[in-house]
Amino acid sequence: MRIATFLSLAGIGALTFAACPGFAGEPGEIPPPKDEPRVIDAGPPPSDAIVLFDGKDLSRWVSQKDSGPARWEVKEGAATVNGSGGIATRDGYGDCQLHIEWATPAVVKGSGQGRGNSGVYLSGRYEVQVLDSYENKTYFHGQAGAIYKQYAPLVNACRKPGEWQSYDIIYHVPRFDADGKLQKPGTVTVLQNGVLIQDNVEIMGSTGPSGAPKYRAHPLKQPIALQDHGNPVRYRNIWIREL
Ligand code: MG
Repeated sequence: MRIATFLSLAGIGALTFAACPGFAGEPGEIPPPKDEPRVIDAGPPPSDAIVLFDGKDLSRWVSQKDSGPARWEVKEGAATVNGSGGIATRDGYGDCQLHIEWATPAVVKGSGQGRGNSGVYLSGRYEVQVLDSYENKTYFHGQAGAIYKQYAPLVNACRKPGEWQSYDIIYHVPRFDADGKLQKPGTVTVLQNGVLIQDNVEIMGSTGPSGAPKYRAHPLKQPIALQDHGNPVRYRNIWIREL
């Protein structure tokens, strides 16, 4: 009886595997998933990405000051922080892969946190620090690529002031229950210029300039924001893929 059951299960297995081209599985092997991965054009940007800024206009962004149109200066394919306040995407996004390119000013002014400071705010509140950290010391969990005041980057992979750099961010939004209690912290992975600098770290909460990080419940889909810290940092080639 047992042998008969085994043989019939093995038979079903063989039929399942036979339906998957190129896969000859034996009992115990994991069969391929039913659905074929979608075919996309890798780009860049990938064909399934939403382009948030293509160097021409900031129509997908609003000013955080008054929710009106974003007023950062757009020229020569880049948007430059100009003191008009932070900007945020018009739409909200959940778990995502975010690509963003930035450059701190070629003419170096200031030091520490006052030099080429900006930031990428995931869910509008968890900052991946943007800073000129090329031969510019500050507290380590506040330098470029830090999850601000929580995690220093694994290495300092900064290019020189004025040079274009990239962040590729994989972000999973924290989850809250109906009462607003944290169920699962958010996680972030960051590659700077192709180098891993944050490896799936658990966000501890929102951070301000001071005080302990603290979670406050928020919806899954929130705008991505870019910080105006008073330094003329440039941005270009921003795209996002929701996961
Ligand atoms: Mg900042």
